[in-house]
Amino acid sequence: MTPTFQQAVRTALKDAQLQTALDRGTTRSYNARLVAMAETTDAAALRRQARLARERALNRLPELLEELERNVIANGGHVLWARDAHELNQHVIALCKQHGVRRVIKGKSMVTEESELNHALEAEGIEVTESDLGEFIIQLAGERPSHIIAPMLHKTKEATARLLHEKLGMPLTDEPEAMTRFVRGVMRQKYLEADMGISGVNFAIAETGTIVTVENEGNNRLSISAPRVHVAVMGIEKVIATWEDFAVLVQLLARSATGQRLSVYNNLISGPRRPGEPDGPEHFYLIIMDNGRGRIFGTEYTESLACIRCGACLNACPVYQNIGGHAYGWVYPGPIGSIISPLLLGPTRAPALPYASSLCGACQAACPVEIAIPDLLLKLRRDLVQAGDPSLGWRVGMRVWAWMFRSPRLYRWGGKLAAWLTRLLADRAGRVRRLPPPFNGWTESRDFPVFGAPSFRERYAKRLREAQHADGVNGAH
Ligand code: SF4
Repeated sequence: MTPTFQQAVRTALKDAQLQTALDRGTTRSYNARLVAMAETTDAAALRRQARLARERALNRLPELLEELERNVIANGGHVLWARDAHELNQHVIALCKQHGVRRVIKGKSMVTEESELNHALEAEGIEVTESDLGEFIIQLAGERPSHIIAPMLHKTKEATARLLHEKLGMPLTDEPEAMTRFVRGVMRQKYLEADMGISGVNFAIAETGTIVTVENEGNNRLSISAPRVHVAVMGIEKVIATWEDFAVLVQLLARSATGQRLSVYNNLISGPRRPGEPDGPEHFYLIIMDNGRGRIFGTEYTESLACIRCGACLNACPVYQNIGGHAYGWVYPGPIGSIISPLLLGPTRAPALPYASSLCGACQAACPVEIAIPDLLLKLRRDLVQAGDPSLGWRVGMRVWAWMFRSPRLYRWGGKLAAWLTRLLADRAGRVRRLPPPFNGWTESRDFPVFGAPSFRERYAKRLREAQHADGVNGAH
């Protein structure tokens, strides 16, 4: 693992406030998902259907994207293609210039996090305001989101209150409702002043050219309907074939993300305002970005593009639960982030992430579209090893490990030696609090267990002897 990732992990583990926030946030979401999935008549069948819907889309990806483009244009909208993050930002800046936009109100969008659109617009003198409550808090704090669904999951309500007090003069309170009311008052004016609304896309339905944004606050609905220009941005993988597929996926998105049967607002947008309609934007643009996804498509990692960004794998992951999202170093944290970040950025930019997993499989069990996350992580590890990473020490260590595991005698004596050493290093409470280098990384954040005595092998051998003895005795009668 790179020192940067290790350092970020150490910092996260020592941050008591972060640990409290992570514990509260991930436990709540994890339990809510379990309850919501248990309510379905057949959760396994629903997940299978969702997986098939995503496979149908990925199997016909180029064709569906063209169908989507045709139908968006037929609905009166415009489609722009962006090869990468830079091109996406340039498209938005050009549209701002074309329509004389000075103020932008923005809904939640991971794609614009990838492109750092806010910075690009601000550099052009355009004011951008995040309208999602969590994103707004993060923007005020000058931070990055730490969770796909709950961007301020790393913040406690106490820290949020202090931030709103310092930045916007909110009277101090620890009531989330009072904080929300206060921010809503600030936001109302922003909606009225904005010339352009920017939104993400949860699903883009090819057969009618409809984009869907799913949310709970109503901020997206206001952002895309109040300003005169609406720009929606999506990665190429967000396209799906039909409304039938949408009907399956939307049920699982809410249940997996927040434990709701359905999100409060499901905004279905098919083009700009039509003649006779009382509201809605005059202009609608859909920007479809590749930014590395085309490199993944058609490889053994294609199924990672099936992700619907529900965040369930993050909440289920024991690594994410302890280190939070910022330690992952880029836009996408958690198990799926450990796959798509190296794939989108290139393996050398995020070499530590495929190893940031115990491969326990909790992520795959939680994933509504059944992505084989541990398998993909193993494949990435294989690729890194073949590419000459990880370090020499790691490779030598794994060779020694493999050599020991091939020899029953060495394995037996290695086990005995390790058991003896843990007993030697244990304190009076019977715990090993500090291991010597190079194993000390383990005990920096947790104890090392003392090996049990007698060992499993000894107990197994003893039972075998006793069973053989009993058979011998019984046989003698
Ligand atoms: S990998 Fe699965 S569980 Fe994780 S965010 Fe994507 S869809 Fe959700």
